[in-house]
Amino acid sequence: MIFYSTKTASIKASAEEAIFNSLPADNGLYMPESIPTLSPDFISNIENKTFNEIAVEITHTLFGDEITRSEVETLINQAYDFDAPVRQINEKDYVLELFHGPSMAFKDFGARFMAAIMSHYLARSKRKIQILVATSGDTGGAVAQGFYKIPGISVTILYPSGKVSEIQERQLTTPGHNVTAIEVDGTFDDCQKLVKEAFLDPELNARFNLASANSINIARLIPQSFYYFSAYAQLKKLGKPIVFAVPSGNFGNLSAGLLAYRMGLPVERFVAATNLNNAVPRYLESGTYEPLPSIETISNAMDVGNPSNFVRFQRFFNDDWKSATEKVSGFYFDNEQTKTAMREVSETSQYVMCPHTAVAYQGLQAYREENTSDYTGVFLATAHPAKFIDLVEETLEKQIEIPERLKSLLSIEKVATSMNSSFSEFKKLLLSTLN
Ligand SMILES: *Cc1c(COP(=O)(O)O)cnc(C)c1O
Repeated sequence: MIFYSTKTASIKASAEEAIFNSLPADNGLYMPESIPTLSPDFISNIENKTFNEIAVEITHTLFGDEITRSEVETLINQAYDFDAPVRQINEKDYVLELFHGPSMAFKDFGARFMAAIMSHYLARSKRKIQILVATSGDTGGAVAQGFYKIPGISVTILYPSGKVSEIQERQLTTPGHNVTAIEVDGTFDDCQKLVKEAFLDPELNARFNLASANSINIARLIPQSFYYFSAYAQLKKLGKPIVFAVPSGNFGNLSAGLLAYRMGLPVERFVAATNLNNAVPRYLESGTYEPLPSIETISNAMDVGNPSNFVRFQRFFNDDWKSATEKVSGFYFDNEQTKTAMREVSETSQYVMCPHTAVAYQGLQAYREENTSDYTGVFLATAHPAKFIDLVEETLEKQIEIPERLKSLLSIEKVATSMNSSFSEFKKLLLSTLN
């Protein structure tokens, strides 16, 4: 599979280069030069396939001869010992639960694949790499769990101080070993900017093999397409077109849905559901993209003012606004609307949603108001509600259960280095701590 840069089409990279470089030298984003489709035969029998079988088929189709099919099977089975079940919560709504992995958020799908494919390549070359990643909450936990103790890889995670939940913070500050946490006095955008600057810094690049694990990395994006196919496999028997409502921040998840669509997945429509960080829904409405500084909301993993994957999102539609509006509908919601949805679904369907998931649920309802044709509506549940326990319990005015996996974290001491958002300080820290 060959990738090109969204800024300079003549800059090309192999899959291995794209995965380890993360960003092309011109600061664009890597996109696959051509997108192969799954065989129609596979899609017509997909209801009989397991999640891992689907993941193997997609990976093999994309990577072709670069990795043998049996190596692909090994790495998929190493990455995934958890599923993406679809559940029906009421007469018309289905939820795709993406929180059954080690950090209990959907980012496990990307992080686990990325760790597995990087260790596959590193085992061949005996290199060492340093991963830098900014998190708005769930990336940190997923990356920490995904890369924990993987030989040849050390991980530095930057997170905005006070803007992630307690459980999220513990997930990334407690593993230790090859995982280091940096608590930044700033926003997620500040953290992301520091990481981007590090990748463009000649001195750091001369010293270290830097790699990213953010959703800009193609190795995170590709595996997120697996669960769209898996959801289709589970819902195919209903015989209706499918509408996916995706709670969106950096737009990696939705871009992966578009990749799945371009690989042949039948999708009626995508609903891009955001909080008040609504640059993409406004773009879909007006045709003008006007990113704004990020705003804090209760769905904090989606507090992204200027989504990194927007360029990819556009590229999937050949940068044509009208085509985008024919496949994607955008809606955005404020905190009060989100809380109302959480209460409503808890009361009427006895289903507890995290605030991000609630935004997707609302997006689906808003779409239903505009479009009453017959389709199956699925909203993506991107995190387990217990990851945001304080907010969820306060909103629902009742206690919810905490899975053992999360409960045990709360008794472990956090370890993190505090820093302001200046690049020179960050650079000094990397030079003195990485090796
Ligand atoms: C990261 C995250 C999102 C946003 O996903 P993007 O791919 O950045 O759009 C939504 N919900 C949760 C729980 C997340 O952690």
